[in-house]
Amino acid sequence: FAPWDDPAQKPLVRFGNVTKRFGSFTAIDNISLDIYEREFFALLGPSGCGKTTMMRMLAGFEKPSEGTISLGGEDIADIPPYKRPVNMMFQSYALFPHMTVEANIAFGLKQDKWPKQQISERVEEMLSLVQLTKFAKRKPHQLSGGQRQRVALARSLAKKPKLLLLDEPLGALDKKLREKTQFELMDIQEKLGMTFVIVTHDQEEAMTVASRIAVMDDGKLIQVATPEVIYEYPNCRYVADFIGDVNLVEGRISTTAEEMVKLSWAEGQGDIDISYKNGCSAGENACLAIRPEKVHVTREEPQDVDNKIRGVIHDIAYIGNLSTYYVKLGNGQIFRAQESNRRRLANREFTWDDQVWLSWRNTAGVLLQK
Ligand code: ATP
Repeated sequence: FAPWDDPAQKPLVRFGNVTKRFGSFTAIDNISLDIYEREFFALLGPSGCGKTTMMRMLAGFEKPSEGTISLGGEDIADIPPYKRPVNMMFQSYALFPHMTVEANIAFGLKQDKWPKQQISERVEEMLSLVQLTKFAKRKPHQLSGGQRQRVALARSLAKKPKLLLLDEPLGALDKKLREKTQFELMDIQEKLGMTFVIVTHDQEEAMTVASRIAVMDDGKLIQVATPEVIYEYPNCRYVADFIGDVNLVEGRISTTAEEMVKLSWAEGQGDIDISYKNGCSAGENACLAIRPEKVHVTREEPQDVDNKIRGVIHDIAYIGNLSTYYVKLGNGQIFRAQESNRRRLANREFTWDDQVWLSWRNTAGVLLQK
């Protein structure tokens, strides 16, 4: 059966081999992608990778040079932006400064000639959704940044679009407010059962809000998966390195058995055991990607561990709840290991130049070929 037999996975948007060129420059390079109904989808990648271009094509501000985009099964290539059941919320919010909050929210409905009564009902509903009922008569300059952001959200949801596009919507907010607003957005998305697509270059934001993430680079889709899979099973070095912190150990596969692999990586250092082959065979070059929090630091040589290496503490970053140890290995490589600071002053257990052991389980990392 098709994956979308599960109602949670019915595609709303389908990109089919979409390429977008600006002159001779290829901004989007042959992307095929499904975005499901009712999902909170994130496009994530560094500046210039093509995230905004993807959104602009969905909104209808740009046309693909090749390929098709459909929405709810209908090809939308020739539908102008204002006729698409799609709305876009910009980082600048683009509120009308001379209009009250309620007039801002009602604007699109008036343009579409909704009857008066329905407009006022819908505006009220939207005000209550974003918890701004008391602020209906204020103007944008009388609101905080977070409140303005919520007006912009209410306005873009008023016409009940099938798809809401959010282009770096929280970029102007400070860290605390940003985190709070992320949860509000998730809450609203769930309440309305709508499809949201967010563009962000903030990986933590994407991990927090999205049900699935597309990681992009240079106009291409590199990996599309849930935040957990992207973090635990990145499909290449680029994704491993872009999302979170990672140690990469380059080496050569020496032997493989069943699903197990041995990676030889430096003269005089023991091989590393990895429990998942990930398609690698003996003799190939590959790389182990392992997150710092999966690596333990001890003074005594650990027993009953799958992998252990000696090293010297080179640096310590104390972050309150955690400490990150930068440990220099025999081959000069710096390995990061993170321990939680459950006990007070736990980071004082080690200091610079201490000889330590690093250890981890053979299921802790992933083997990457690219
Ligand atoms: P950012 O995070 O900086 O907004 P982005 O991932 O959203 O980046 P896009 O705005 O999609 O990137 O741009 C992708 C590439 O296409 C960039 O190299 C950009 O310079 C180029 N580009 C975008 N729009 C045009 C245009 N109208 N004409 C020419 N080149 C363009």
